[in-house]
Amino acid sequence: MPAKILDGTKIAIEIRSEVAAEVKTMTAAGVRPGLAVVLVGHNPASEVYVRGKVKASNEVGLYSEQHTPPETATTAELLALVEDLNRRDEIDGILVQLPLPAQVDSKKILMAVDPAKDVDGFHPVNVGFLSTQRPGLVPCTPAGVIEILKRYQIPIGGQEAIIVGRSDIVGKPVAMLLLNANATVTVCHSKTRDLPEVCRRADLLIAAIGRAGMITSDFVKPGATVIDVGMNKVTDPAVFQRLFGGRLYQNAKREEAFRAKGSTLVGDVHPEVAEVAGALTPVPGGVGPLTIAMLMYNTVKAAKMRRGQRAVASDQRPVGTVAGRE
Ligand code: NDP
Repeated sequence: MPAKILDGTKIAIEIRSEVAAEVKTMTAAGVRPGLAVVLVGHNPASEVYVRGKVKASNEVGLYSEQHTPPETATTAELLALVEDLNRRDEIDGILVQLPLPAQVDSKKILMAVDPAKDVDGFHPVNVGFLSTQRPGLVPCTPAGVIEILKRYQIPIGGQEAIIVGRSDIVGKPVAMLLLNANATVTVCHSKTRDLPEVCRRADLLIAAIGRAGMITSDFVKPGATVIDVGMNKVTDPAVFQRLFGGRLYQNAKREEAFRAKGSTLVGDVHPEVAEVAGALTPVPGGVGPLTIAMLMYNTVKAAKMRRGQRAVASDQRPVGTVAGRE
């Protein structure tokens, strides 16, 4: 039986509507959560991401503002901007879109963001909070992975979870969240021996590698839940053929779009895995949509944590199901 497809778009819509309701209540109580996005220069991919974030902010009713220093901005100028945003009470979340231009000391800028406003959850203070199970801001994509599992009622506690990828942005925080939720966690990387064999132990297999279709069916235990975090742009027709050319995985719609556009977005998991896994997130439409939804969620959470009783006076409920867990 083919894997159940875990619909990230549907869950992202649910979370965004929960956040919108919360923003409405908070705004009525006089505390409208605010997000500031800093976009330096004109990186086209960053411009697309930032547009998506600003649009989502408007849709859920957040106050949002965009700062667009020029490509030539210095570390000192960006530090001054971040410090100003840190000081302003109406700004609850600060998001500095990466990558920053080469002349800027990115680490210095990210370290300067007030941890209480660090809605990306990358500041070492928030990393420490996560690893010691204290309330804090959790990175958006990893938090989205957990939301998919929870909202589809896929058990985590006691399950064997294998994560392929150990980045600070995805692999490590996903591992920490799963460990905090009582999974037995193994983190794999490029030096892991016998990777397919290790992965076949997984009840929950999380792929965060950045290699199109690397996880084939021989990595997957029958019935396992497979979460595909990978987002890879494929332009090579031979790679497209390897992924979608097989008799079972032909995808006429995707092929047509690939021909017209010259590229397609694929995950780290080969489409053939759908024949083995019990449940699987698609790409696109799986983990991707959750990232922005969780950014909206984090901004509201940051407002509640920092502005305390002013934010929750009229409503003591946690946002969605996530806050109740953290
Ligand atoms: P990184 O490049 O930072 O990390 C990749 C990880 O994969 C590394 O730990 C690396 O190991 C490991 N790896 C690479 N090749 C292999 C291999 N052959 N065997 C085993 N492990 C391997 O990537 P990110 O974590 O930033 O992103 C991972 C993927 O997730 C990308 O496709 C990215 O686009 C996507 N992504 C998606 C998001 C979303 O919103 N859906 C958000 C963020 C990322 P080592 O450490 O040994 O080098």
